Amino acid sequence: MREKGCSREELFSFLARKRGEDLGYGRILSSMCTRPHPVGVEAEALFAGTNLGDPGLFPGTAGIERLLVERLGELLHCREACGYATSGGTESNLQVLRMARGLAGVRDPNVVIPESAHFSFEKACDILNIGIRPAPLDRNLRMDPGKAEELIDRNTVCLVGIAGTTEYGMVDPIRALSDIAVDRGIFLHVDAAFGGLVIPFLPEPVPFDFSLPGVSSISVDPHKMGMSPIPAGALLVREERMLAPLSVATPYLTVRNVYTLTGTRPGGPVAGAFAVLEYLGREGMRSLVRGCMANTARLIAGLETLGIPRAVSPDVNVATFTCGETPPGWQVSRTRLGHLRIVCMPHVSRDQVEAFIAAMGELHA
Ligand code: PLP
Repeated sequence: MREKGCSREELFSFLARKRGEDLGYGRILSSMCTRPHPVGVEAEALFAGTNLGDPGLFPGTAGIERLLVERLGELLHCREACGYATSGGTESNLQVLRMARGLAGVRDPNVVIPESAHFSFEKACDILNIGIRPAPLDRNLRMDPGKAEELIDRNTVCLVGIAGTTEYGMVDPIRALSDIAVDRGIFLHVDAAFGGLVIPFLPEPVPFDFSLPGVSSISVDPHKMGMSPIPAGALLVREERMLAPLSVATPYLTVRNVYTLTGTRPGGPVAGAFAVLEYLGREGMRSLVRGCMANTARLIAGLETLGIPRAVSPDVNVATFTCGETPPGWQVSRTRLGHLRIVCMPHVSRDQVEAFIAAMGELHA
């Protein structure tokens, strides 16, 4: 650290240079994050420095967090849902497994997840010492519920389905998983970190949420399709009693106990997440999702015209292709199976989609 501080001018010219090294969202086709909505950025700034880790000191900010949970619960068909704002899907998934393990109270716990699950489950199971049982997928890369059921035994503390897989944008058959969960009396978690703010706004949403009786908990991330500042996730549970295994006494804070993972928690992104949802409303979100889905469809049609076939027909705005080279200057990604993967987030405009199709056309001419 410097002995004597530098000038603001020197500091900010250095920071601006470093910021300039970041890739602009303009050519990023690989991310599930997006440019935050200006309303979210403004709300975040208003709540900068607030700490949700000690909510009694920031009752206004804590009230916004409760409203965010309420709005998401209502959207996901359970007005009474409880939970809190997390730092994203990774924390939500970790906390859910911790909760499910605590509720089941078995000695040698395991969890049944689809092979397509996000790698956050690997981290969570490592930390919590829970065995992972990956269930195979069907031809369309959705979890096979029959095969998943075969993996369940008396030590299974949680069954997981994904609503909007990270790599292929597929929604697992959550209704069938819900039936299994009810039959076997097992905790069912839906990882809707991505799809939770897409599926409800589709013209014909498939049931994936608390409307299904077997669904116990849901992860949903405003910092993905909710256009909120980073980090903003949410963990929702159907009943408050489910949170009990997460509760820790907090002797010197303004509350007696907490069930969050991190201690100090930023209020800014939570206010940002709430602000965007309030500002856009269902109508605005439908329009946002319509645009992203239309771009996904156009991208698939455009590349297929060039002889580049889709890997699957996605349920949400993730497009994947069997394809070799991609043009330089575009940030794209590859799935574990080697498919080209593009996420049509709100920052990906129709012009960018057309420019990418044209660049692919030149490369594969
Ligand atoms: N779950 C799913 C389905 C995801 O797509 C992701 C991230 O892309 C995560 C969990 C992890 O979320 P985060 O990176 O916000 O922790």
